[in-house]
Amino acid sequence: KSWTAKEIRQQFLDFFQNKGHEVVPSAPMVIKGDPTLMFTNAGMNQFKEAFLGNRQPSSSRITDTQKCLRVSGKHNDLEEVGHDTYHHTMFEMLGNWSFGDYFKTEAIAWAWELLTEVYGLDQERLYVTVFEGDASENLERDDDAANAWKAYVPQERILNGNKKDNFWEMGATGPCGPCSEIHMDLRSNEERAKVEGASLVNQDHPQVVEIWNLVFMEFNRQADGALKALPAKHVDTGMGFERLCMALQGKQSNYDTDVFQPLITRLSELSGITYGTAEKSDIALRVIADHVRAVAFAIADGQLPSNNGAGYVIRRILRRAIRYGFSYLNLKEAFIHKLIPILSQQMAEFFPEIRDQKELVEKVILEEEQSFLRTLEQGLNRLDQIRQESQSKTVDGARVFELYDTFGFPPDLTALILKEEGMSFDIASYESEMQKQKDRARSATKVDTGDWVVIEEDDREEFIGYDHLEAKVRITRYRKV
Ligand code: ATP
Ligand code: MG
Ligand code: MG
Ligand code: MG
Repeated sequence: KSWTAKEIRQQFLDFFQNKGHEVVPSAPMVIKGDPTLMFTNAGMNQFKEAFLGNRQPSSSRITDTQKCLRVSGKHNDLEEVGHDTYHHTMFEMLGNWSFGDYFKTEAIAWAWELLTEVYGLDQERLYVTVFEGDASENLERDDDAANAWKAYVPQERILNGNKKDNFWEMGATGPCGPCSEIHMDLRSNEERAKVEGASLVNQDHPQVVEIWNLVFMEFNRQADGALKALPAKHVDTGMGFERLCMALQGKQSNYDTDVFQPLITRLSELSGITYGTAEKSDIALRVIADHVRAVAFAIADGQLPSNNGAGYVIRRILRRAIRYGFSYLNLKEAFIHKLIPILSQQMAEFFPEIRDQKELVEKVILEEEQSFLRTLEQGLNRLDQIRQESQSKTVDGARVFELYDTFGFPPDLTALILKEEGMSFDIASYESEMQKQKDRARSATKVDTGDWVVIEEDDREEFIGYDHLEAKVRITRYRKV
């Protein structure tokens, strides 16, 4: 059978619904009101309070697909994106949860049934990992999980994993516990004959990838670093939807699936550059196809690009995409907003917000593109000059601040461009320039506003966004006509 992305997603939800799970919608990708987390980084985030025992979930078994963004905090994959073929900024995490209901045996049995019997993945290519324990935290090896796997998986494909890979934590604090991961070897038979697949698990091999993580929530990581037992034991699973699509569609890259191909095709039309012709343009095509999703869904969730907080993260992602297009796809005019109709068409059935907010998303992205493109070329020229004048491979941070201040180059973008030439910059001198500017701004009158817009549920036609530059405040109103 050949699976479309839509069928794959639906099948997951149907499967767990048949096992008594309530299907719930994705929570917004942008989080407000949790100082420990800026963006949703896993399906379990919206259930944090339920794990901690502070809130009763609507059902003891829940399933969904969650929009996640991993660009900040403990889970930050931004630098990988585009360079590898299976880490995204925004991705969907398919999940099933048990709140004090079933535990390891059922979670493992169902994961195996779904992957091998329903989706029909080749069992021989699947590896599982279990937590090996950690003496410093007084944690034992997860023998229960290992024993549960033995019913399905031969011993040599059940591997131990360390705390980094097999003890899942949401952030610096919060619910956590040992986990058991499922990895899939997607290499050709020829490649497989060369190296044993087991030795590639957890090695970031592009065709031996982790697809599903089953977390057994038992603890709360407290602010003092100690682990405290939760009032009940829970199951929290997360499967990378785009990676599953790669496996089921017989591809070796997430970007070759029908999740990304329509976006890449449109980008090729716009630029005249085909995917697969050169390394640099391929990276650019992947980065842009990835970043447009992150930016569009963030805006649809009410997070406009801005100069601080979560809004600045979104602006930085967008500026990275614009620069990749400019430098490697020869796209010198605004182009990212032109991808929104495709994205909306692909995703609206499941995530109606992308269709409902389509005009806002297009308008905001277009304005951002136009504003950055006004200074991008000059900034790139200036950076070239700075590079040539620099005495060492480490550029003076004051120059990086100048690029930020004059041309709107976020420092991580400058770092990215410098890295392409094997260079970097001095962060301390950048920060000291930044501090000086902040001190100057503090003495001027400053209006402090957040960067969050409220999208009214019952009157979806009006949006008010705040965007502030130093002491000036610009208020933008978007009204549908
Ligand atoms: P990896 O080791 O590949 O970085 P992870 O262990 O950090 O993944 P988890 O926190 O266990 O990921 O998240 C559950 C699942 O979500 C993973 O098994 C993977 O399939 C998927 N996933 C994680 N990060 C990404 C990402 N940046 N892009 C796409 N899918 C991801
Ligand atoms: Mg990771
Ligand atoms: Mg991992
Ligand atoms: Mg994992």
